[in-house]
Amino acid sequence: MLSMGIHNGKREKPITVHIHRIPPGKVKEIELVWDRKLMLAISCDDSTHPRENPNQGIAAIDMGEIHGIAAVADTGEALIVTSRKLRSVKRLRNKKFKELYKKRSRCKKGSRKWKKYTRAIARTGSKTDNQQRDILHKISRKFVAWASGQGVNTAIVGDVEGVQRNTSRRKKKNIKQKLRSHGLNQKISQWPFGLLLAYLTYKLAALGIDLLKIDESYTTQTCPVCGRKKKPSGRMYHCHCGYTCHRDVHGARNILSRHKHGEIRNLDWKVNKIKYLRPAS
Ligand SMILES: [Zn+2]
Repeated sequence: MLSMGIHNGKREKPITVHIHRIPPGKVKEIELVWDRKLMLAISCDDSTHPRENPNQGIAAIDMGEIHGIAAVADTGEALIVTSRKLRSVKRLRNKKFKELYKKRSRCKKGSRKWKKYTRAIARTGSKTDNQQRDILHKISRKFVAWASGQGVNTAIVGDVEGVQRNTSRRKKKNIKQKLRSHGLNQKISQWPFGLLLAYLTYKLAALGIDLLKIDESYTTQTCPVCGRKKKPSGRMYHCHCGYTCHRDVHGARNILSRHKHGEIRNLDWKVNKIKYLRPAS
């Protein structure tokens, strides 16, 4: 049985799918995927026990709309996997939705043309959903490979409450109004942190790496040296006391500190290398 989620404000009936053979191991996720034809994507653990992980390293992740994943390991190395591609997919999708809804609104409900636009709306939705999932899988894979190379045993992720991070209150209000006026409430989701988290969790678990969530409040604002709080502007976080760090890596480093010491404090190592990756590279 596959849940079909909520569509136009109504919960859709779940559908039942029959499969010849379910792959061995524990099924982690089943997705119905449309790519010119309907397909079923099954992700599963192929071993009943996660791989033994003798490593001791810790890495912290700061998720964001622009950087996707910014991470730092206690080896002093950092990783940024950008998610610009995802933003462009979302932007295009929203533009397309807007056009289609506008066109449909000029047609009589239930008419041939109205139905045509309704189908086009559904197509646009499923196509961009697939693109989004693909990018998120790639982002999570990049992190997992890097973390494994850093000898990580535990990964800490800043708990993004809700998913409207990096969105100002005014902007949120504007978005809500826009959504309401277009009846798109269910159509435009915010940045899919939850999905990225799910992909990370099972991909890391397969390597014996635990993923723990931690409160991330003030991790982007607080200077770990003097404790002053300020909103970073630009790519770098600069503090009056002289502390400076790449803004996203700075956030991840503070998350790591909070996990290790229960507070944001200056760690005894500096970030010595930042690796930049795109989901596709
Ligand atoms: Zn400072």
